[in-house]
Amino acid sequence: MMTSVLFQRARVIDPRNEVDGIRDVLVTDGRVAQVSEAPLTAPKDARVVDATGKWVVPGFIDLHVHLREPGEEGKETVLTGCRAAVAGGFTGVVAMPNTKVVNDSALVTELVLSRARDADLCHVYPAGAITKGLKGEELSEAGELIGAGCVALTDDGRPVMNAALMRRVLQYATLFDVPVMVHEEDLTLSAGGAMHEGATSTRLGLRGIPASAEVAMVARDLILLEETKGRLHVAHVSCEGSVRLIREAKKRGLRVTCEVAPHHFTLDDRAVGDYDTHAKMAPPLRGDADVKALREALVDGTVDAIATDHAPHGVSDKLVEFEKGINGIVGLETALGLTLALVHEGVLTPRRAVELLSEGPARVFGLPGGHLAPGSPADITVVSPGEEWTVDAHRFYSRSRNTPFHGRTFKGRVTQTWVGGRCVFEDGQLKESR
Ligand SMILES: [Zn+2]
Repeated sequence: MMTSVLFQRARVIDPRNEVDGIRDVLVTDGRVAQVSEAPLTAPKDARVVDATGKWVVPGFIDLHVHLREPGEEGKETVLTGCRAAVAGGFTGVVAMPNTKVVNDSALVTELVLSRARDADLCHVYPAGAITKGLKGEELSEAGELIGAGCVALTDDGRPVMNAALMRRVLQYATLFDVPVMVHEEDLTLSAGGAMHEGATSTRLGLRGIPASAEVAMVARDLILLEETKGRLHVAHVSCEGSVRLIREAKKRGLRVTCEVAPHHFTLDDRAVGDYDTHAKMAPPLRGDADVKALREALVDGTVDAIATDHAPHGVSDKLVEFEKGINGIVGLETALGLTLALVHEGVLTPRRAVELLSEGPARVFGLPGGHLAPGSPADITVVSPGEEWTVDAHRFYSRSRNTPFHGRTFKGRVTQTWVGGRCVFEDGQLKESR
């Protein structure tokens, strides 16, 4: 059993600790032991990784992943989702509770955690449901969920339409200091809609979902947040109006954070083309002004984290007419490529890109990792920034293939993923412990 690893001559990007430069990184017993500008001598029996030309960065953390277990194991399991995660450079994922047995009890939380222990690849942090059965009627037992290991409360996939209930959960969650994560969609505004309301929906003759379906709910929840002094995390922000409200609320000191999904900062509603169900999601791909606003918000700090909303679905869910197509795409194995595309376009600096994938999400949910200070867990992603590769959905480690990015060429790929000082993914191959 290897107990030490020495990464030599890497470009270490560690935003929290203000590091961006060539360093050696020594890992001992699962933790970062030393980060040094001067070359270090490898301890006896250490594995030496020549990281010349590579980035060594804090392991990525995805705040928004659908692992589908329990209940829809044909789409994904905790194991296959963890495989996809580490292949994408993620060392931790937050598992959404909208499984077919909803995670609204300690029993389901414990099941997810036990599957994650069996998978033994990356950290899995369950999120518990705000309401029992995600029905939006009765609050679930937050104390029980958090006691069992949930790191946030969310009804993701569904909004909390009842404002009084939303107000109560914001208040109640302050007792545990966990974020309430919200999928913002006023169902009375989105009803019957299949895509963003705009020129493309008109051309295709599809009923649109107006931006107000999201923005109005963000406005409501910020008002409730101000009254309750709770913690609000807005999932998959998709439009300019939401960004503006969140930016303003942050300025006023409200405890609001938010995430943006790679597909929302990459594609606009024109990607629907001629009824391509791989471009169908909730919230929908928005207009080009929205994409521009999301990119500005990624730069200026309004957005705290890039989160994938990894949503595995089977082929038959997508091989239907557009209106019936199920929402969402897989994201774990394309997130870095899409984020680095913003770096290559000059939108993000490498440091900000790394921050949005690691330090930001760790901070938002109070998770371990996200930086590489001595003593921190050796959750590390090694990136080859110049390496080009082409997405082949058939080679995904995820059990599902639903992506609009099949065939797209990316510059920059994950070459190694380390979790707790153990290499779990290297050069395209998983390193499973059993
Ligand atoms: Zn959602």
